[in-house]
Amino acid sequence: MSDCLFCKILAGEIPADKMYEDDKMLVFKDINPKADVHLLVIPRVHISSLNEVTDEHDDIMTHMFKQLPKLAKEQGLKNGFRTIINTGKGGGQIVFHLHMHLLGGKSLPGFH
Ligand code: AMP
Ligand code: ZN
Repeated sequence: MSDCLFCKILAGEIPADKMYEDDKMLVFKDINPKADVHLLVIPRVHISSLNEVTDEHDDIMTHMFKQLPKLAKEQGLKNGFRTIINTGKGGGQIVFHLHMHLLGGKSLPGFH
């Protein structure tokens, strides 16, 4: 996916503030943070959105979800965190490479 921003970050063609990576996923800081902690969690394989997830992605999806609590704790989010996946234009998705927003910290709005 030569025109995909997050594939370019994965390829090292665009810099990112990387926080964690393994054979299945990469985690980096959102360039325009909406909270004290705002990370993006992406699969190494290009999946455009949640709409394109199939059975062949079961291992990747499970792996990403299971890493979230560990990543949150490493960020010092002891009281919890928020995960957002925007899907499609109607869902507010701007970058069409599947990503989970991991948000937390004292400035997190709502749900008081
Ligand atoms: P979404 O609306 O779910 O597609 O979110 C895309 C997110 O990617 C936004 O929160 C942007 O701030 C973030 N973003 C865009 N470009 C970059 C970049 N080069 N590095 C890090 N985050 C980015
Ligand atoms: Zn991509």
